[in-house]
Amino acid sequence: MGTIVEVCIADRIENIRDIADKAFAALREVEDILSIYREDSRVSELNRLAAGEAVTVDFHTFEILRKAIEFNRLTRRAFDITVSPVLELWGFGRNKERRVPGEDELKKTLNLVGTDKILLDEEARTVRFELPGVKIDLGGIAKGYAVDQAVNSLKNAGVKAALVNAGGDIYALGKKGKGGWVTGIRHPRRRGRILARIKLVNKAIATSGDYEKYFILAGQRYSHIIDPKTGYPAKQNFPMSVTVLAEDCITADALATAVFVLGPEEGMDLINELDEVEAVIVSDSGEGLRIGLSRGLEKKEGWIYQK
Ligand code: ADP
Ligand code: MG
Repeated sequence: MGTIVEVCIADRIENIRDIADKAFAALREVEDILSIYREDSRVSELNRLAAGEAVTVDFHTFEILRKAIEFNRLTRRAFDITVSPVLELWGFGRNKERRVPGEDELKKTLNLVGTDKILLDEEARTVRFELPGVKIDLGGIAKGYAVDQAVNSLKNAGVKAALVNAGGDIYALGKKGKGGWVTGIRHPRRRGRILARIKLVNKAIATSGDYEKYFILAGQRYSHIIDPKTGYPAKQNFPMSVTVLAEDCITADALATAVFVLGPEEGMDLINELDEVEAVIVSDSGEGLRIGLSRGLEKKEGWIYQK
């Protein structure tokens, strides 16, 4: 999935090596299914075939698609796995040249976007796309889902305290020692600087930022997160990073991507409407960083903001 995954078990438990191996096997299973970078993954196969025929898929694939469609509704369409053809147009994808597409091709491609173009048959467990050219990209939730699977594997093995970290998509199980797991929120412009620390117990956290994957063309900075309504990358500095806390990592991952599209105001409204979900949104106030906190975080213990 293009990232490094770390599994840290903080439990006096036997067979720790075997348990960790199983967690990694769970991660690898998800990667095999979901990666768009692999020609032989289930998602690549769907993208090749599902416009022509109903394709039978495995449990994981069906679950993720169902969740992805749910997140589309939940996020006022900001989260949309069918942005894939638009991402391709901008040259996101392996070995592709970044470019700014023309208005006409963008408009045409937007006709392929919308989760209503994914047709799921629950009973037959099949997937079909409504039109030729429809494609899905699970980059906005795959890591979160994989983390959840690894955590399930650890829990099933009896582990009470562990941290699974897939490039910043994290689940913190139980406590490390007496306290929670302490994670940091990065400064979006200064490498190595931490803006804030937050203590987690049985919580997921995920961040979408504009500082790791982006490209610059003609002095403009373009994000790899696309607004499905316009086909354009999420606006510059609007926000710079979004960190979401949730009960599971797939939710944190999807919502972080969605809030990135919605922006600091609408995004925070959405977070405040949802139960068990909190967010830290870092944006540009014009004079410096503006740090927005969701309602629950304002009074949360273990939340440390450093100037
Ligand atoms: P990262 O991959 O840097 O952790 P995200 O979790 O925010 O960041 O996922 C970004 C990825 O999600 C993009 O690389 C792309 O594959 C996919 N994507 C882009 N725009 C959207 C969108 N509006 N909805 C869902 N997925 C998206
Ligand atoms: Mg995401």
